[in-house]
Amino acid sequence: MSTVLTTDPAPAEALRDSRKTTCCIVGGGPGGMMLGLLLARQRVPVTLLEQHKDFDRDFRGDTIHPSTLEILDQIGLAEPLHQLRHAKIYGPTLRVANSSFSPIDFRRLKTRFPYILLVPQVKFLDFLAAEASKYPDFRLLMGANVEQLVEEDGQVRGVRYLANDGMHEVRAEVTVAADGRFSRLRHLAGFEALQTSAPMDILWFRLPHVPGDLPEAEGRVLGGFARGRMLAVFDRFDYWQVGYVFPKGHYQELRAAGLEALRNSIVEVEPRLAEQVKALTDWHQFSLLSVESSRCPRWFKPGLLLIGDAAHVMSPVGGVGINYAIQDAVETANILSAPLRSGKVGVSDLAKVQAARERPTRIIQAMQSAVQSRVLAAALGSQTTPRIPWTARAFFKIPILRDIPARILAFGITRVRLRDAAN
Ligand SMILES: Cc1cc2nc3c(=O)[nH]c(=O)nc-3n(C[C@H](O)[C@H](O)[C@H](O)COP(=O)(O)OP(=O)(O)OC[C@H]3O[C@@H](n4cnc5c(N)ncnc54)[C@H](O)[C@@H]3O)c2cc1C
Repeated sequence: MSTVLTTDPAPAEALRDSRKTTCCIVGGGPGGMMLGLLLARQRVPVTLLEQHKDFDRDFRGDTIHPSTLEILDQIGLAEPLHQLRHAKIYGPTLRVANSSFSPIDFRRLKTRFPYILLVPQVKFLDFLAAEASKYPDFRLLMGANVEQLVEEDGQVRGVRYLANDGMHEVRAEVTVAADGRFSRLRHLAGFEALQTSAPMDILWFRLPHVPGDLPEAEGRVLGGFARGRMLAVFDRFDYWQVGYVFPKGHYQELRAAGLEALRNSIVEVEPRLAEQVKALTDWHQFSLLSVESSRCPRWFKPGLLLIGDAAHVMSPVGGVGINYAIQDAVETANILSAPLRSGKVGVSDLAKVQAARERPTRIIQAMQSAVQSRVLAAALGSQTTPRIPWTARAFFKIPILRDIPARILAFGITRVRLRDAAN
């Protein structure tokens, strides 16, 4: 029996066409694009459906971790990636109470890439798409909004997507939901994520570069705390991208205090933005983001696998979400390439992906929760500027200990490698 699961109560539109592929990936974020590239390299026919017409969106992080760089290096793409305009972070510096604190130094790690590479994510995704498109087995459809899941006899057989010209179908041996934190496929498949709410929200906005801006040598990422507020600032070369972190549920209070108070608060954390904040003149310049994290108890059912934020929404603490989505993609390619090529993917193969990635995800989410509840909640709940406790400063002076958080940030809990990179 064939069933079409849809979020739209209206009757399904007439289908314009139905095509076959081996793996249908829904979502062209870092997880989906990396999986598409790796499977296409392995001669697995892939169709990737992305709802937007391009990759140029605001709500993206720009971090490419040493772990991802090592994987790209395995397939000869690290060097070409470095040809894109980029910046390197060898260790973030926090400004707290007019002093700076640099807890992490990636240069101490044993890797060819002891830094986080900052590339605007739109460029990174364009890069992956261009590389994947060199393989004849890769098909990328932009502007393809997946609305329905096709199920037959309890097995997911593909999806239906809406494009400019109407509804289309893609049938596949396996469908991978890489459609991010608000995953529609997760919802259609009936999976419920266990939610943990972080104690903060974020205002996300841009600031212009101004003459006399920070010289490049001073780094392209700024951050710090002051009086219940936290700031994370990335240089996207054409502008500064800013995340202003404040206690959850305090948005109305922030608005009532007015723009002048907000500008002052930003400058209090980062005095070097005094000129730039003058550009903030209207609340329409800000987007309010609710910070959440969650994890699905189950990431698969026959014919369907969830990866990346679709399986586990990562809190922004530590900026590891992109790395985790990419590591999920690499393990998926490691485990599924051969079964996909043979055209026989069992539920047990899909289960192996969750088994490989669930533990590292649980551990990192537990760490993020601990930082959120012990460090961030205290800092955001305080009306005074927090000081870095001497215990923390002492911890980060002991070489063996200080390398642990650096290693976790750089590689995640397990160092994921591509198994058959030579193919
Ligand atoms: C404001 C913000 C800043 C962040 N900063 C960082 C950071 O600095 N470092 C870091 O590591 N992480 C950061 N994160 C987290 C990170 O962005 C995510 O963890 C990561 O993008 C997850 O990758 P993904 O491929 O699973 O999903 P996503 O990147 O969310 O990609 C999902 C894709 O699926 C597409 N899609 C969704 N629905 C459909 C549909 N129905 N049909 C077709 N396509 C669909 C979307 O358009 C999107 O392109 C940040 C998150 C936010 C919100």
